[in-house]
Amino acid sequence: MIIFGWGFKTNKIFGSKNARCQVCNNMGFTYIRTRTWFTLFFIPIFPIGTVWGKYCNICGNGFKMTKERFFAELAEHRPEPQAVFAEYDAPPASNAQPEYDAQSAADYRES
Ligand SMILES: [Zn+2]
Repeated sequence: MIIFGWGFKTNKIFGSKNARCQVCNNMGFTYIRTRTWFTLFFIPIFPIGTVWGKYCNICGNGFKMTKERFFAELAEHRPEPQAVFAEYDAPPASNAQPEYDAQSAADYRES
């Protein structure tokens, strides 16, 4: 019996960039190549599909793109993280402090 499949995937990280995530508003995307492999007896033989994409480091929101765009974005100059935050982050509002949650605090003490 020959056992073959194509569900096996590998990820390779090529780098990361600072950019504002539209979903969670955090900074930072990781550029990952995902390959799907043809497997024979559970051993990956050759890739049958490749996806180039960037994924938010916080919420995982992802964008697929062409290989050309992938490397173009990685090569492009972006300001240092510190400069980006200074530019975009307004001073915290007066209600920036997290609300005190008595139940959570109790749970935390018990654990
Ligand atoms: Zn996000």
